[in-house]
Amino acid sequence: LTTFTDEARIALDTLSGRATGLFAPTLRLGVTGLSRAGKTVFISSLVHNLLHGGRLPLFEAQKSGRIARAFLEEQPDDAVPRFQYEDHIATLVNDRLWPDSTRAISELRLTIEYESASGWSRMFSAGKLSLDIVDYPGEWLLDLPLLGKSYADFSREAFEMAELPVRADLSREWRDLSASVDPDAASDEVTARRLSESFAAYLKACKLDDRALSTLPPGRFLMPGDLEGSPALTFAPLMPGDERRAKPGYLRAMMERRYEAYKTHVVRPFFREHITRLDRQIVLIDALQALNAGPGAMADLERAVTEILACFRPGRGNILTDLVSRRIDRILIAATKADHLHHESHDRLQAIVRRLADRAIARANFTGANVDVVAMAAIRATREGTVKQGRDTLPVILGTPLAGETIGGQIFDGEAETAIFPGDLPEKVDSVFETVNGHRQDETDPAIRFVRFRPPRLERTAEGVTLSLPHIRLDRALQFLIGDRLA
Ligand code: GDP
Repeated sequence: LTTFTDEARIALDTLSGRATGLFAPTLRLGVTGLSRAGKTVFISSLVHNLLHGGRLPLFEAQKSGRIARAFLEEQPDDAVPRFQYEDHIATLVNDRLWPDSTRAISELRLTIEYESASGWSRMFSAGKLSLDIVDYPGEWLLDLPLLGKSYADFSREAFEMAELPVRADLSREWRDLSASVDPDAASDEVTARRLSESFAAYLKACKLDDRALSTLPPGRFLMPGDLEGSPALTFAPLMPGDERRAKPGYLRAMMERRYEAYKTHVVRPFFREHITRLDRQIVLIDALQALNAGPGAMADLERAVTEILACFRPGRGNILTDLVSRRIDRILIAATKADHLHHESHDRLQAIVRRLADRAIARANFTGANVDVVAMAAIRATREGTVKQGRDTLPVILGTPLAGETIGGQIFDGEAETAIFPGDLPEKVDSVFETVNGHRQDETDPAIRFVRFRPPRLERTAEGVTLSLPHIRLDRALQFLIGDRLA
């Protein structure tokens, strides 16, 4: 699956990484998740809170006052775009709007100077950790399994998935188009492009809110990065047929060649250059959106998390994955946007994510890294309150809905704060995974009411100091991801 040069290059990289690590220890933290899961918001808030001494009681080094200084430094990889932290913070804090989401890989180096907790280490350790944060689309990660799949395997699975009840209507146009072409006819660019565009349109439709589906390789069809329109992206699965008839010059052969080119020129270098060098990984998931869309979307999310974990599993006989798993020792699966719920539901959300992760760990036969889960909000856009309704006092969340958001016919102007009863998550964790004839077991479950809120106005202290971005359990995530390296 991989070549000798892969191996040699990674070994060299690792060695040189270790060598520089001796002088200034570094930790490479991968931040991934499917599009709109909250990667950009998570990194922006994490860095903002570390730079500005945020309230992080569960992050031990900060709580005990051992962090002397945190600052941004030039990143070590000249060929990787920098994560545009300053622009994102300006959008969040000054305009109170959400920043542009992740479209490709980017990186940022944050250096933390700290005092070791033990007197012994204080004498020897430099007390400096460079945290290299690597932001990349989860869609690209989900391409790894393609390295082990032939074009025929890929095509067969694509058709099987497309025929699932949650996808069948969305994929119909592409499947009809595909049925109308003869794979064993002479290849032509126009047909290849039409098929590829139609396949990509189906994949994109699966991502829309009401479906919220997750597992959709090839990842660059959704997140092309700078490859849009290139031949390595102009292919599509073809109805499995007689492989022996795949003669050069025919459509099937052309598609197969491009699929292989996609693996060679896109998937493999991305893994070799970026993923194999990570030490820790956080996987963000939008569990609330999947919960709202129903068990079909939950099953799909579970499959995506299973495949993501499988990418980090040792012993697949694939040097790329073996190297990844040998290095990554902690993985955090984090459900973001918990600020859409009242705090009473936070533990329920975490329990649902834990169950999802446990099922994925079992399905992926996962061993190796330490996996934890958290329900969090990288940025808390709401606060909590209560409203009286008759004799009842109901818990609500208060926030400023984005301009144009609606609830029950009311359209918000993006200025006024509004109280919203968010609805409860089901108490029985299993009920969100189980279906009866494809429907949620208890159809009367009130779905969670979603309104997208504006980012919060930053609070100021009595002395006029502006506080850092508010969050929910970001400190718990930080403690798991980097706490031990600041001990
Ligand atoms: P990415 O595609 O993974 O980079 O996703 P983003 O970080 O851009 O997040 C997508 C959208 O989710 C944002 O524009 C926000 O509307 C919402 N979002 C992400 N994180 C949070 C959060 O912690 N709280 C709230 N209320 N919304 C969030």
